[in-house]
Amino acid sequence: MPFSDVADATARAAALLEAARSVLVLTGAGISTESGIPDFRSPGGLWTKYDPRKLTFDLFCSRAETRRDYWRLATQTYPVLRDAEPNAAHRAVAALERAGKLLCLVTQNVDGLHLKAGNSRERTIEIHGSSLRATCIDCGAEHDREELHRRLLAGTVEVPVCEACGGRVKPATISFGQSMPEEETARAFAAAEVCDLMIVIGSSLVVYPVASLPDVAVKAGAPLVIVNNEATPKDDLAAALVRGAAGESMTLLLRGAGLGEPLSSRSR
Ligand code: NAD
Ligand code: ZN
Repeated sequence: MPFSDVADATARAAALLEAARSVLVLTGAGISTESGIPDFRSPGGLWTKYDPRKLTFDLFCSRAETRRDYWRLATQTYPVLRDAEPNAAHRAVAALERAGKLLCLVTQNVDGLHLKAGNSRERTIEIHGSSLRATCIDCGAEHDREELHRRLLAGTVEVPVCEACGGRVKPATISFGQSMPEEETARAFAAAEVCDLMIVIGSSLVVYPVASLPDVAVKAGAPLVIVNNEATPKDDLAAALVRGAAGESMTLLLRGAGLGEPLSSRSR
């Protein structure tokens, strides 16, 4: 895409953002790659070393061996996610909330970086859960992820067991084959019905049901902006397609909308 097209799209997106009052933001793994967290496609990423078909929710529930493999993978990924820092794109989304323009932030990411950047829990829906928490899938008890990590690293535990009920403890993410959280999913779709602008950042828009949020927003009359470094199946729906890196694109978008410089300061 020639530079002038990108500049035009950014200007168009910035004008939409400036006029908007009630923005729905949807983010995916692409917003966090500049924070050093690989998306599914990145070569050599931790995720590419495991076969997700062998780590489904059903297998986690039914096989002790899968639970052990799952926790081995989680023990490698957890410190990467825990220690990552938000980048300019996360800070831009936090700035939207501070400016009073954010209706709702739906993230498919499990890295907690939006909350770290300063978005509030009230407006943030971690629709695929969070790797920074762990819960018992039998009784729902919360478990201290950091404490579990220490015990896993020390080798004193291989597969955590719930102290409250003896049940199966799992990182609080939605696994392949696990049902989506009902209340959060309903809230996300309700926001798509009433937002006056939807911005998608760093998502390939192929994972459902989240990938149908843009269809709902557009059908309800909201313009759609997609910020991504490659094409997505929803590009035809977009009023502005900003093809580029999330951090720089969001910085330019915010500046163009008169909302300041997310790059210049950390959150808050
Ligand atoms: P995805 O990996 O399918 O798509 C990411 C998209 O972002 C791709 O189109 C990619 O080209 C683009 N991208 C990558 N880096 C970018 C950058 N710097 N700027 C702009 N675009 C960039 O991710 P998805 O749509 O979120 O779906 C994958 C699933 O994997 C999600 O359900 C998510 O829960 C999970 N996941 C989460 C994390 C995380 O928490 N950070 C990381 C990997 C996977
Ligand atoms: Zn329990």
